[in-house]
Amino acid sequence: MQVVYSANHLVHDIDTETYMGVSVPANEVAERAEKIRSALDADGGFTLTAPTEHGEDPITAVHDEGLLRFLETAWSEVRSQNIPRAFLSADTYPNRAMFDGMSAEAIAQLVREPRHVGGRAGFWGLDSAAPLVAGTYAAARSAVDVALTTADVVLAGETAAYGLCRPPGHHAARAMYGGYCFFNNAAIAAHAITQATGERVAILDVDYHHGNGTQQIFWRRGDVRYVSIHADPDRQYPYFLGRADETGEGGGAGENLNLPLRAGATNDDYLEATDRAIEAIAAVPGSIVVVSLGFDTYGLDPIGDFALTTDVYHEVGRRVAGLGRRLVILQEGGYHRPSLGENARAWLRGAEGRDFDPMPVAGFGPGGAVTG
Ligand SMILES: [Zn+2]
Repeated sequence: MQVVYSANHLVHDIDTETYMGVSVPANEVAERAEKIRSALDADGGFTLTAPTEHGEDPITAVHDEGLLRFLETAWSEVRSQNIPRAFLSADTYPNRAMFDGMSAEAIAQLVREPRHVGGRAGFWGLDSAAPLVAGTYAAARSAVDVALTTADVVLAGETAAYGLCRPPGHHAARAMYGGYCFFNNAAIAAHAITQATGERVAILDVDYHHGNGTQQIFWRRGDVRYVSIHADPDRQYPYFLGRADETGEGGGAGENLNLPLRAGATNDDYLEATDRAIEAIAAVPGSIVVVSLGFDTYGLDPIGDFALTTDVYHEVGRRVAGLGRRLVILQEGGYHRPSLGENARAWLRGAEGRDFDPMPVAGFGPGGAVTG
């Protein structure tokens, strides 16, 4: 299988993030992608391919151009104002209650991008969980190129290809970044595929978190079906979207399927949800599925609360490939660094119809069992 990878992600160099108002060691770090790359390298069955540049047009086909301009200029603004920060993170957001009682027209008129970079971060950002640094824009642009090149490989005839996107994308909405995500790699790729093929596309999101951005982007579209298995937002980020009764509107009515799971969800719970998701995808025509692949569903993930083990990823990959559709597989989250490479190998080998063939990982036995 071809693996699209670029070292450009390294310039999105994050060491801290904020969690409930305090600085904590970052989870979404460069080492994540490097762990996956080296495990796929060691496997011998994957070929690394560099992305090609696709320009801004596929991004602004999905995102507000203002978001792109903000991400492009935010860090130089921080620098030019001599704001002493290791990273930019907003602290003021336009909470909807701020505008209570105002008409929709008045709100449309009043809520606009302010001049100060802190205000701009609040205007375009969902949360303080997407620290922005000097290299963020370049890395985020490169992650989009990785996603689009992965789509190109599949459009050219491959059965499946994997894009090692970093930063991830599925929390980024049309006009909003957040949750470690800046541009929605999977949504941009899915839209590009609809344009290239004229077919319907399904997105299967198996990251631990709900992909609120992807849901938002395709909410009213009948040509992209979004199916997501994730932690119930009643207890987990992104908190305000991801419930089972969110099914789309207008042309997208019935095209959005959320399958929220309980804390402690097991391999069996997960496979049951996977089968429901696969059924929902099989029900609509189309030949390509975009997979938002996350490993924060893993039992030892520091920010997740599911109980999955490495072997279930092989089985999920196998079942998804059983749909008989071509797969554009794009990396989203997953924060337990020691297991990321094995979990990715397991999923991708499953998707290719190869056996799992576990490799020993320092501190971990085959199958993800902790050995010391
Ligand atoms: Zn996630």
